[in-house]
Amino acid sequence: MPTPIVSKRAPIYADVPNEKWNDWRWQLSHRLNTAEDIEKVLTLTESERKALQKPDLFRVDVTPYYISLIDPNDPNDPVRKQIIPTSEEMNAFTAMMEDSLAEDRHSPVPGLVHRYPDRVLMLVTTQCASYCRYCTRSRIVGDPGQTFNRQDFEMQIEYLKRTPQVRDVLLSGGDPLVLAPKILEELLTRLREIPHIEIIRIGSRVPVFMPMRITQELCDMLARFHPLWLNIHVNHPNEISTEVAEACDRMSRAGIPLGNQSVLLAGVNDCVHIQRELVQKLTRIRVRPYYLYQCDLVEGAGHFRTPVAKGIEIIEGLRGHTSGYAVPQFIVDAPGGGGKIPVMPNYLLSMSDHKIIVRNYEGYITTYEEPTEYKSHDPKTCLFCQNKRPEPGQTGLTGLLDGDQMFIKPQDFDELHNRNGIQHRLKDEKKWKPLGIGSGETD
Ligand SMILES: *Cc1c(COP(=O)(O)O)cnc(C)c1O
Repeated sequence: MPTPIVSKRAPIYADVPNEKWNDWRWQLSHRLNTAEDIEKVLTLTESERKALQKPDLFRVDVTPYYISLIDPNDPNDPVRKQIIPTSEEMNAFTAMMEDSLAEDRHSPVPGLVHRYPDRVLMLVTTQCASYCRYCTRSRIVGDPGQTFNRQDFEMQIEYLKRTPQVRDVLLSGGDPLVLAPKILEELLTRLREIPHIEIIRIGSRVPVFMPMRITQELCDMLARFHPLWLNIHVNHPNEISTEVAEACDRMSRAGIPLGNQSVLLAGVNDCVHIQRELVQKLTRIRVRPYYLYQCDLVEGAGHFRTPVAKGIEIIEGLRGHTSGYAVPQFIVDAPGGGGKIPVMPNYLLSMSDHKIIVRNYEGYITTYEEPTEYKSHDPKTCLFCQNKRPEPGQTGLTGLLDGDQMFIKPQDFDELHNRNGIQHRLKDEKKWKPLGIGSGETD
């Protein structure tokens, strides 16, 4: 039986009138952030109390709506673990980093991360409706002194105007949907004035932390900026309440395609049965599971980490076993700024020049005969090949396959292998444009 979609309210909020409870401003201004507040809803463990009394802890804040989803008597409740700190946050671990994705290094202007050729990540605020304990951006998020920085924003817009290869802007932060409505609208208006920006995306946990923010008025406003896509962030089926289902329905009806990004978290959702229930419940509310992330190597999140193999096992248990729409891509966001790398079970067992051997989700092993005569389309007459957009310095393996380059080599490769001082050149080496790693140039 699928888990029911229900609405919850902790007993201490029983007397709050509906018009207040359903008002996102009330939810924001009544967030809980001290041991004393939280103890009114849950019995705290020693470890939680200790963490909450630590002055320099990553910011704590929970909306009354979200804390109501927690079973107050279960210290291992999966919603609780995401939002209530424990003393484990103070534990350091091997490979721990402050900015594990090297976002700051990829920022041409403050708050704008240009990692991939055709899209950028724009960090528009440091505020969220509540704070995930495993936050990847805990180094910048939560600072109450900074909501929206106009000077940074103007520099970001200027960069986007002069960078025509950017066709996709992803708004994140912090959470763009906690911005004052007028500021959010201005931001979207300014982005839409840039002709080469084709799509706008928002990454937001507001529909989960504070679904009452997703008013019809907000949806009508967002719909003026189409094509606009939105990813929510749900990690466990218990987070999908009646209110979340209704908020997603309003957004879908406003024409906003919805996706979900989850993080694989030890003790929260590191189980194929929980994940299957989660992705099926998401598709019931018309949200397409997009990514399942391996937990980043960020300070304070060590106790949430699972082996990468756990994620592969989960995908193995989803693909074929449930609707293809319900299967997310499992992603390791490579430390050091390597970017998102998909990791998945192996289905291709072997190959020869005429046959591949594959297996299906049940372990059935079969073969696929390759065509004996493959007549490829003709790039010389193909308009799309003629007009392909350049990806300066970032073509990577695609560049090798495409034929423009023969090899990729590490920066000092030539010096290292030139032991006798003789230049060994390929006959036609000039014809190849080798792509170095690091500086983007060799030779
Ligand atoms: C995740 C991310 C994106 C978007 O990646 P998609 O795979 O297109 O969803 C863009 N820029 C940065 C820096 C990111 O981290």
